[in-house]
Amino acid sequence: MDQTKIFLSESEMPRQWYNIQADLPTPMPAVLHPGTKQPVGPDDLAAIFPMGLIMQEVTTERWVDIPEPILEAYRIWRPTPLVRARRLERLLGTPAKIYYKWEGVSPAGSHKPNTAVPQAWYNMNEGVKRLATETGAGQWGSALSFATGLFGLECKVYMVRVSYDQKPYRRMLMETWGGQCVASPSNETNAGRAMLAKDPDSPGSLGMAISEAVEDAATRADTKYALGSVLNHVLLHQTVIGLETLKQLEMAGEYPDTVIGCAGGGSNFAGLALPFVRDKIVDGRKTRIVAVEPAACPSLTRGVYRYDFGDTAGLTPLMKMFTLGHDFMPPSIHAGGLRYHGMAPIVSHLKDLGLIEAEAHQQNPVFDAAVKFARTEGHVPAPETAHAIKAAVDEALRCRQTGEKKTIVFIASGHGHFDLASYQKYFAGELVDQEYSDEMIHAGLGTLPQV
Ligand SMILES: *Cc1c(COP(=O)(O)O)cnc(C)c1O
Repeated sequence: MDQTKIFLSESEMPRQWYNIQADLPTPMPAVLHPGTKQPVGPDDLAAIFPMGLIMQEVTTERWVDIPEPILEAYRIWRPTPLVRARRLERLLGTPAKIYYKWEGVSPAGSHKPNTAVPQAWYNMNEGVKRLATETGAGQWGSALSFATGLFGLECKVYMVRVSYDQKPYRRMLMETWGGQCVASPSNETNAGRAMLAKDPDSPGSLGMAISEAVEDAATRADTKYALGSVLNHVLLHQTVIGLETLKQLEMAGEYPDTVIGCAGGGSNFAGLALPFVRDKIVDGRKTRIVAVEPAACPSLTRGVYRYDFGDTAGLTPLMKMFTLGHDFMPPSIHAGGLRYHGMAPIVSHLKDLGLIEAEAHQQNPVFDAAVKFARTEGHVPAPETAHAIKAAVDEALRCRQTGEKKTIVFIASGHGHFDLASYQKYFAGELVDQEYSDEMIHAGLGTLPQV
């Protein structure tokens, strides 16, 4: 009998993270100081990050050991299953094989604890008592609240106002794990107060919430900042996903033709994709690797590859990335975790080198794919995850036309149990597909910093 779920034992879990920086054909562009525009060194980042994570940000070592206390915490939910989506394949009538790597089994219900746990541990290891962070849909805030709780740290979460109002259960989850959550913009920081003065009814954005959390960390000696996506060390931690998937596919006697992930800041996509990108660079594999984003926030497909700030207030170092401009205000689409103006520098670099592709989809066809998945495979996916499902379904349908027996693997980054209101709106026909003219997209580019 052909297997449906492919499990690894705990002893087969990766003991090292994979660092793509060791294998890049051209090195990553430097990160620049926002004032001097000169490359930043480790000391410039020490006010907001612990040295253990700063070193992971810049290292070009290929393999980075995972400390034992982190492995022990990972074992709460890892290794995660790789699942063959047989019922979805049958529904689509495709000769393709579809596998998904299921990260919804973590305590927070997504891939985010894969980096929340190491970030909390490295901070604790250097005597930090409290972490400040932002959250969009609430996935990251809940993951970090869970992880800080494991290692006895306090956690302060600035949650984007629209999500705070739309998703009270995520906030309750954070509080259950001991985190403290406020709506952003808040009146607790200078950045937040300035934004409220401009617009008291501001719906908030990830960029704004980042400004608040960075200010919190920079102005308190006991506090550092944690970011749930975008940065090199975050993508490094997420590679446990792809490393497990490689082994699981090998056990099934497979190597993928197509690798797919949804991309907001780029971390779950990269977590799955980077070991396969390595195989393209080092072994000359021809894998098609696709990042999928919402048409309402299309940084990779319609943004520009330029230096920009990571936040709205312009406090963070400048990173070269595909961006819509740090002032870009995405509409309140339901995939809250994909509403970020930029894209991880590593993912951006790979796109620029032609090693990965990107595509964008509207939310109605994305929810259609999510419902197909839920009604065949059972799991109700997060709206973010549904973007990857949409791309996998499209690829499988192309195979139906051509008769190609491709092997498709995508990452199912999380479950949608706290997103059911979005499903209701979809069923009621209330979701709007956002069409942007080039003028609207490029309106936000005027304030890009001159480098
Ligand atoms: C946060 C989140 C995303 C988007 O973040 P990335 O850094 O791009 O992975 C995608 N899916 C889920 C379930 C999330 O929680």
